[in-house]
Amino acid sequence: MTKILDGREEYKKILTAQATQARKIASHGFAVGFTMLSVGEDDAKLQYALANKRACANAGINAVYEVLPAEFTTEQVVKRIMELNADPTVNGIMVLAPYPKHIDGSKINSAISPEKDVDGQTPRCISDLYANRNGKDTFYPCTPYGAIKLLKRYNVDLDGKNVTIVGRSTVVGKPMAALMLNENATVTICHTHTKNLRAACKNADIIVLAAGKANLLDKSMVREGVVVIDFGSNFVDGKVVGDADYDGLLGIVGAITPVPGGCGPMTTAVMLENIIKAAKRQYKIR
Ligand code: NAP
Repeated sequence: MTKILDGREEYKKILTAQATQARKIASHGFAVGFTMLSVGEDDAKLQYALANKRACANAGINAVYEVLPAEFTTEQVVKRIMELNADPTVNGIMVLAPYPKHIDGSKINSAISPEKDVDGQTPRCISDLYANRNGKDTFYPCTPYGAIKLLKRYNVDLDGKNVTIVGRSTVVGKPMAALMLNENATVTICHTHTKNLRAACKNADIIVLAAGKANLLDKSMVREGVVVIDFGSNFVDGKVVGDADYDGLLGIVGAITPVPGGCGPMTTAVMLENIIKAAKRQYKIR
Protein backbone atom coordinates (compact mmCIF):
# COMPACT_ATOMS: atom_id res chain seq x y z
CA MET A 1 0.00 0.00 0.00
CA THR A 2 1.54 3.31 -1.10
CA LYS A 3 0.85 6.43 0.95
CA ILE A 4 0.21 9.53 -1.17
CA LEU A 5 2.01 12.55 0.28
CA ASP A 6 -0.69 15.11 -0.37
CA GLY A 7 0.78 18.60 -0.73
CA ARG A 8 -2.61 20.16 -1.45
CA GLU A 9 -4.07 19.14 1.92
CA GLU A 10 -1.05 20.45 3.78
CA TYR A 11 -1.12 23.63 1.71
CA LYS A 12 -4.71 24.34 2.79
CA LYS A 13 -3.74 24.08 6.46
CA ILE A 14 -0.72 26.35 6.04
CA LEU A 15 -2.78 28.86 4.04
CA THR A 16 -5.38 29.05 6.82
CA ALA A 17 -2.66 29.55 9.44
CA GLN A 18 -0.95 32.30 7.43
CA ALA A 19 -4.27 34.08 6.78
CA THR A 20 -4.77 34.16 10.55
CA GLN A 21 -1.31 35.68 10.97
CA ALA A 22 -2.02 38.28 8.25
CA ARG A 23 -5.18 39.31 10.14
CA LYS A 24 -3.13 39.61 13.31
CA ILE A 25 -0.66 41.89 11.50
CA ALA A 26 -3.61 43.93 10.15
CA SER A 27 -4.93 44.30 13.71
CA HIS A 28 -1.68 46.13 14.49
CA GLY A 29 -2.42 48.54 11.64
CA PHE A 30 0.00 47.03 9.08
CA ALA A 31 -0.46 45.40 5.68
CA VAL A 32 1.67 42.56 4.29
CA GLY A 33 3.32 43.35 0.94
CA PHE A 34 5.17 41.06 -1.46
CA THR A 35 6.76 41.94 -4.81
CA MET A 36 7.73 39.46 -7.52
CA LEU A 37 10.11 40.98 -10.04
CA SER A 38 10.74 39.62 -13.50
CA VAL A 39 13.31 40.83 -16.01
CA GLY A 40 11.46 40.37 -19.27
CA GLU A 41 8.27 38.41 -19.59
CA ASP A 42 7.41 34.86 -20.55
CA ASP A 43 4.30 32.78 -20.17
CA ALA A 44 5.72 30.36 -17.58
CA LYS A 45 6.74 33.23 -15.29
CA LEU A 46 3.42 34.99 -15.83
CA GLN A 47 1.45 31.85 -14.89
CA TYR A 48 3.68 31.26 -11.86
CA ALA A 49 3.29 34.86 -10.72
CA LEU A 50 -0.49 34.80 -11.19
CA ALA A 51 -0.75 31.56 -9.16
CA ASN A 52 1.35 33.12 -6.40
CA LYS A 53 -0.80 36.27 -6.50
CA ARG A 54 -3.96 34.18 -6.05
CA ALA A 55 -2.41 32.33 -3.10
CA CYS A 56 -1.31 35.62 -1.54
CA ALA A 57 -4.77 37.15 -2.00
CA ASN A 58 -6.28 34.16 -0.19
CA ALA A 59 -3.83 34.67 2.67
CA GLY A 60 -4.46 38.42 2.92
CA ILE A 61 -1.08 39.38 1.41
CA ASN A 62 -0.84 42.20 -1.15
CA ALA A 63 1.23 40.71 -3.97
CA VAL A 64 2.53 42.71 -6.92
CA TYR A 65 4.04 41.26 -10.09
CA GLU A 66 6.36 43.78 -11.69
CA VAL A 67 7.96 43.15 -15.08
CA LEU A 68 11.13 45.10 -15.88
CA PRO A 69 12.15 45.52 -19.53
CA ALA A 70 14.19 42.53 -20.81
CA GLU A 71 16.94 44.90 -21.94
CA PHE A 72 17.49 46.31 -18.43
CA THR A 73 21.11 45.96 -17.32
CA THR A 74 22.10 44.17 -14.11
CA GLU A 75 22.72 47.61 -12.55
CA GLN A 76 19.22 48.81 -13.45
CA VAL A 77 17.66 45.69 -11.93
CA VAL A 78 19.82 46.06 -8.80
CA LYS A 79 18.68 49.70 -8.50
CA ARG A 80 15.02 48.59 -8.56
CA ILE A 81 15.72 45.91 -5.94
CA MET A 82 17.37 48.56 -3.72
CA GLU A 83 14.22 50.70 -4.00
CA LEU A 84 12.10 47.72 -2.94
CA ASN A 85 14.52 47.00 -0.08
CA ALA A 86 13.94 50.55 1.16
CA ASP A 87 10.15 50.44 0.73
CA PRO A 88 8.55 49.73 4.13
CA THR A 89 5.34 48.47 2.50
CA VAL A 90 7.24 45.63 0.76
CA ASN A 91 8.03 42.84 3.22
CA GLY A 92 9.14 40.15 0.78
CA ILE A 93 10.93 40.20 -2.58
CA MET A 94 11.36 37.42 -5.12
CA VAL A 95 13.12 37.80 -8.47
CA LEU A 96 11.74 35.18 -10.83
CA ALA A 97 14.27 33.02 -12.69
CA PRO A 98 15.46 32.48 -15.33
CA TYR A 99 17.04 35.85 -16.09
CA PRO A 100 18.08 37.06 -19.54
CA LYS A 101 21.63 35.91 -20.41
CA HIS A 102 23.22 39.36 -19.96
CA ILE A 103 22.02 39.58 -16.31
CA ASP A 104 24.48 38.62 -13.55
CA GLY A 105 22.27 36.45 -11.31
CA SER A 106 24.69 36.50 -8.39
CA LYS A 107 24.54 40.32 -8.27
CA ILE A 108 20.74 40.14 -8.33
CA ASN A 109 20.62 37.66 -5.44
CA SER A 110 23.19 39.65 -3.46
CA ALA A 111 21.17 42.85 -3.88
CA ILE A 112 18.04 41.56 -2.13
CA SER A 113 17.87 42.48 1.55
CA PRO A 114 18.25 39.23 3.54
CA GLU A 115 15.35 40.48 5.70
CA LYS A 116 13.08 40.36 2.62
CA ASP A 117 14.63 37.33 0.90
CA VAL A 118 11.58 35.08 1.12
CA ASP A 119 13.01 32.50 -1.30
CA GLY A 120 16.31 32.15 0.55
CA GLN A 121 18.53 33.12 -2.39
CA THR A 122 20.83 35.75 -0.84
CA PRO A 123 24.37 34.77 0.14
CA ARG A 124 23.44 35.18 3.81
CA CYS A 125 20.45 32.83 3.62
CA ILE A 126 22.45 30.29 1.60
CA SER A 127 25.28 30.47 4.13
CA ASP A 128 22.75 29.93 6.95
CA LEU A 129 21.40 26.89 5.11
CA TYR A 130 24.80 25.29 4.54
CA ALA A 131 25.99 26.13 8.06
CA ASN A 132 22.74 24.68 9.48
CA ARG A 133 21.95 27.84 11.40
CA ASN A 134 18.59 27.97 13.06
CA GLY A 135 15.81 27.95 10.47
CA LYS A 136 13.76 30.30 12.65
CA ASP A 137 16.26 33.10 11.99
CA THR A 138 16.67 32.68 8.26
CA PHE A 139 14.70 31.88 5.10
CA TYR A 140 15.15 28.50 3.44
CA PRO A 141 14.40 28.19 -0.31
CA CYS A 142 10.68 27.52 -0.74
CA THR A 143 10.83 24.50 -3.07
CA PRO A 144 13.18 22.14 -1.19
CA TYR A 145 12.00 23.28 2.24
CA GLY A 146 8.40 22.60 1.25
CA ALA A 147 9.30 18.96 0.62
CA ILE A 148 11.04 18.68 4.00
CA LYS A 149 7.91 20.05 5.66
CA LEU A 150 5.74 17.55 3.79
CA LEU A 151 7.96 14.64 4.87
CA LYS A 152 7.74 15.83 8.48
CA ARG A 153 3.99 16.22 8.24
CA TYR A 154 3.79 12.53 7.28
CA ASN A 155 6.28 11.59 10.03
CA VAL A 156 8.88 10.29 7.59
CA ASP A 157 12.03 9.86 9.67
CA LEU A 158 15.08 11.35 7.95
CA ASP A 159 17.72 10.76 10.63
CA GLY A 160 20.38 8.33 9.37
CA LYS A 161 18.39 7.52 6.22
CA ASN A 162 20.04 7.03 2.81
CA VAL A 163 18.74 9.80 0.58
CA THR A 164 19.48 9.81 -3.15
CA ILE A 165 18.84 13.09 -4.91
CA VAL A 166 18.69 13.12 -8.72
CA GLY A 167 19.61 16.64 -9.83
CA ARG A 168 22.21 19.14 -8.64
CA SER A 169 20.77 22.54 -9.57
CA THR A 170 21.21 25.43 -7.16
CA VAL A 171 17.44 25.90 -6.89
CA VAL A 172 16.39 22.34 -6.07
CA GLY A 173 19.00 19.55 -5.89
CA LYS A 174 21.81 21.24 -3.93
CA PRO A 175 19.69 23.04 -1.31
CA MET A 176 17.67 19.84 -0.89
CA ALA A 177 20.93 17.99 -0.17
CA ALA A 178 21.88 20.61 2.44
CA LEU A 179 18.46 20.41 4.11
CA MET A 180 18.69 16.61 4.19
CA LEU A 181 22.16 16.77 5.71
CA ASN A 182 20.80 19.16 8.33
CA GLU A 183 18.25 16.44 9.15
CA ASN A 184 21.13 13.95 9.62
CA ALA A 185 20.41 11.98 6.46
CA THR A 186 23.24 10.38 4.45
CA VAL A 187 23.04 12.04 1.06
CA THR A 188 24.04 10.94 -2.45
CA ILE A 189 23.63 13.49 -5.25
CA CYS A 190 23.27 12.18 -8.82
CA HIS A 191 23.44 14.00 -12.15
CA THR A 192 24.01 13.28 -15.83
CA HIS A 193 27.59 12.07 -15.21
CA THR A 194 26.53 9.60 -12.51
CA LYS A 195 27.75 6.15 -13.58
CA ASN A 196 25.10 3.99 -11.96
CA LEU A 197 21.89 5.84 -11.20
CA ARG A 198 20.02 2.59 -10.73
CA ALA A 199 22.37 1.42 -7.95
CA ALA A 200 22.19 4.81 -6.22
CA CYS A 201 18.38 4.68 -6.28
CA LYS A 202 18.24 1.00 -5.21
CA ASN A 203 20.34 1.86 -2.17
CA ALA A 204 18.04 4.67 -1.06
CA ASP A 205 15.45 4.86 1.70
CA ILE A 206 14.28 8.14 0.18
CA ILE A 207 14.64 9.18 -3.48
CA VAL A 208 14.33 12.83 -4.46
CA LEU A 209 13.73 13.49 -8.15
CA ALA A 210 14.71 16.92 -9.48
CA ALA A 211 15.86 16.21 -13.02
CA GLY A 212 12.95 17.33 -15.20
CA LYS A 213 12.86 14.01 -17.11
CA ALA A 214 9.57 12.12 -17.34
CA ASN A 215 9.72 8.41 -16.42
CA LEU A 216 13.30 8.68 -15.15
CA LEU A 217 12.49 6.45 -12.16
CA ASP A 218 10.73 3.15 -12.73
CA LYS A 219 9.99 0.13 -10.56
CA SER A 220 13.17 -1.70 -11.59
CA MET A 221 15.22 1.03 -9.84
CA VAL A 222 13.65 1.03 -6.38
CA ARG A 223 13.50 -1.02 -3.22
CA GLU A 224 10.07 -1.89 -1.91
CA GLY A 225 8.86 0.66 0.63
CA VAL A 226 11.12 3.54 -0.52
CA VAL A 227 9.77 7.11 -0.19
CA VAL A 228 9.75 9.12 -3.43
CA ILE A 229 9.73 12.92 -3.54
CA ASP A 230 9.09 14.09 -7.09
CA PHE A 231 9.84 17.72 -7.96
CA GLY A 232 9.76 17.01 -11.69
CA SER A 233 7.37 19.00 -13.83
CA ASN A 234 7.21 17.74 -17.41
CA PHE A 235 4.61 18.21 -20.15
CA VAL A 236 3.73 14.87 -21.74
CA ASP A 237 0.72 14.49 -24.06
CA GLY A 238 -0.74 17.74 -22.76
CA LYS A 239 -0.45 16.68 -19.11
CA VAL A 240 1.96 17.67 -16.35
CA VAL A 241 3.84 14.64 -15.02
CA GLY A 242 6.75 14.21 -12.64
CA ASP A 243 10.07 12.40 -13.08
CA ALA A 244 8.70 9.15 -11.63
CA ASP A 245 6.66 6.52 -13.42
CA TYR A 246 3.95 7.25 -10.87
CA ASP A 247 1.44 4.56 -11.85
CA GLY A 248 4.16 1.91 -12.18
CA LEU A 249 5.49 2.69 -8.69
CA LEU A 250 2.14 2.58 -6.89
CA GLY A 251 1.92 -0.48 -4.67
CA ILE A 252 5.73 -0.83 -4.59
CA VAL A 253 6.98 2.37 -3.00
CA GLY A 254 6.02 3.20 0.58
CA ALA A 255 5.06 6.79 -0.15
CA ILE A 256 5.16 9.19 -3.09
CA THR A 257 4.31 12.79 -3.93
CA PRO A 258 1.86 13.12 -6.83
CA VAL A 259 2.51 15.52 -9.71
CA PRO A 260 0.64 17.80 -9.67
CA GLY A 261 -0.41 18.14 -6.03
CA GLY A 262 2.75 17.16 -4.13
CA CYS A 263 5.78 19.44 -4.04
CA GLY A 264 4.21 22.32 -6.02
CA PRO A 265 1.62 23.40 -3.41
CA MET A 266 4.25 23.03 -0.68
CA THR A 267 6.50 25.55 -2.48
CA THR A 268 3.64 28.04 -2.35
CA ALA A 269 2.92 27.20 1.28
CA VAL A 270 6.50 27.96 2.34
CA MET A 271 6.46 31.16 0.29
CA LEU A 272 3.39 32.34 2.26
CA GLU A 273 5.01 31.36 5.55
CA ASN A 274 8.20 33.20 4.67
CA ILE A 275 6.37 36.38 3.63
CA ILE A 276 4.40 36.43 6.89
CA LYS A 277 7.57 35.69 8.88
CA ALA A 278 9.36 38.58 7.13
CA ALA A 279 6.45 40.96 7.77
CA LYS A 280 6.19 40.05 11.46
CA ARG A 281 9.91 40.59 11.93
CA GLN A 282 9.89 43.92 10.11
CA TYR A 283 6.85 45.17 12.04
CA LYS A 284 8.21 43.67 15.28
CA ILE A 285 5.10 41.58 15.88
CA ARG A 286 5.61 38.32 17.78
P1 NAP B 1 17.74 21.86 -13.94
O1 NAP B 1 18.42 23.11 -13.56
O2 NAP B 1 17.51 21.55 -15.39
O3 NAP B 1 18.59 20.65 -13.31
C1 NAP B 1 18.30 19.33 -13.61
C2 NAP B 1 19.30 18.44 -12.90
O4 NAP B 1 18.97 17.09 -13.15
C3 NAP B 1 20.75 18.64 -13.38
O5 NAP B 1 21.62 18.60 -12.26
C4 NAP B 1 20.99 17.45 -14.31
O6 NAP B 1 22.33 17.00 -14.30
C5 NAP B 1 20.09 16.40 -13.68
N1 NAP B 1 19.62 15.43 -14.66
C6 NAP B 1 18.91 15.67 -15.78
N2 NAP B 1 18.65 14.52 -16.44
C7 NAP B 1 19.23 13.52 -15.72
C8 NAP B 1 19.34 12.12 -15.89
N3 NAP B 1 18.80 11.49 -16.92
N4 NAP B 1 20.02 11.43 -14.94
C9 NAP B 1 20.57 12.04 -13.87
N5 NAP B 1 20.50 13.38 -13.66
C10 NAP B 1 19.84 14.11 -14.58
O7 NAP B 1 16.31 21.72 -13.26
P2 NAP B 1 15.75 22.33 -11.85
O8 NAP B 1 15.53 23.79 -12.00
O9 NAP B 1 16.57 21.82 -10.72
O10 NAP B 1 14.32 21.63 -11.81
C11 NAP B 1 14.20 20.21 -11.78
C12 NAP B 1 12.75 19.86 -11.97
O11 NAP B 1 12.02 20.37 -10.86
C13 NAP B 1 12.12 20.47 -13.22
O12 NAP B 1 11.18 19.57 -13.76
C14 NAP B 1 11.42 21.70 -12.69
O13 NAP B 1 10.32 22.07 -13.50
C15 NAP B 1 10.97 21.22 -11.35
N6 NAP B 1 10.75 22.27 -10.33
C16 NAP B 1 9.71 22.08 -9.49
C17 NAP B 1 9.47 23.01 -8.51
C18 NAP B 1 8.31 22.78 -7.56
O14 NAP B 1 7.86 21.66 -7.39
N7 NAP B 1 7.81 23.78 -6.90
C19 NAP B 1 10.25 24.14 -8.38
C20 NAP B 1 11.37 24.27 -9.22
C21 NAP B 1 11.61 23.33 -10.20
P3 NAP B 1 23.57 17.91 -14.81
O15 NAP B 1 23.85 18.87 -13.70
O16 NAP B 1 24.68 16.93 -15.01
O17 NAP B 1 23.11 18.58 -16.06
